[in-house]
Amino acid sequence: RTKAAGRGKWTVFDASMRQAVQERLEVESALRTALAEDELHLLYQPIVDLESGRPRGAEALLRWEHPEKGPIGPNVFIPVAEESRLIIGIGAFVLRDAVRQLAAWRAAGVVGDDFWMSINVSPRQLTEPGFTAMVAETLRTHDVPARCVALEITESVMVEGGDISEGALRDLRALGVSISVDDFGTGFSSLGYLRRHPVTSVKIDRSFVSGLGGSASDEEIVRAVVAMSAALGLAVVAEGVETTEQRDVLGRLGVRLCQGWLWGRAVDARAFADTWGSREQAAVS
Ligand code: C2E
Ligand code: MG
Ligand code: MG
Ligand code: MG
Repeated sequence: RTKAAGRGKWTVFDASMRQAVQERLEVESALRTALAEDELHLLYQPIVDLESGRPRGAEALLRWEHPEKGPIGPNVFIPVAEESRLIIGIGAFVLRDAVRQLAAWRAAGVVGDDFWMSINVSPRQLTEPGFTAMVAETLRTHDVPARCVALEITESVMVEGGDISEGALRDLRALGVSISVDDFGTGFSSLGYLRRHPVTSVKIDRSFVSGLGGSASDEEIVRAVVAMSAALGLAVVAEGVETTEQRDVLGRLGVRLCQGWLWGRAVDARAFADTWGSREQAAVS
């Protein structure tokens, strides 16, 4: 391998790096505009009771409707927001809008008194001073009980978050909101982390759910998560349930709460009320 070839490689690497940085900066700048110009909005996906098929809660999922590029998914822009401070403002918007929507549904009788809203929270938001105070303030403003809000965090919060995250989680629990560990099984947390942190539920990642019915090892993993959660007193939600076969295996393994395309995709607030609200009301009357 010659020196020249080595240098050539670096040139290529350098150019593609520069392009990646450039792209990131462009997304970041467009995202800043999006927040200011109302291009961000939330969709809601039901979290259902497996036996009744009725919604017990909903997860708020963020969407970006770019004026020229069209819809952009959170997997593209959330990482960019997280690397800048933009996630703070975006996260605040998400929290306020999701709680506002829950309050509206409660007031209109679309959902019952124990229906909850799950809201994704980035690690950077948790360690921001005043986050718990903002959550408390938002709940107060909209007169929503803390028990009707579940904050979804990732395993990395427990593994890398340190004392600040742990303290924030304790304050949030003291406030009364639930704490759910999202994408559970994909990170590097252990039983010890789960026991030490004040979490209330785990969401089994879609990657384990998708193999159910065909993969014996995925079934064993889900079985282990269910047993571990029972021992720790945690609720279990399965995410990404797409087939009746997956649903049936989950039911057999003792999972009661599911989320996935089998019941419905994330939809806007109006469609959610039309599709899921009426069933709630029908069940009440
Ligand atoms: P997540 O929190 O694990 O959300 C679940 C993702 O799986 C959502 O993707 C949802 O639309 C998708 N999904 C639900 N059911 C199914 C299914 O049956 N099959 C398949 N294949 N997918 C299903 P989405 O909306 O693209 O969100 C991706 C991720 O972006 C979320 O993963 C979450 O980590 C992040 N995210 C979304 N909204 C927010 C937000 O407001 N704040 C933050 N910090 N992150 C967010
Ligand atoms: Mg989530
Ligand atoms: Mg998830
Ligand atoms: Mg996931």
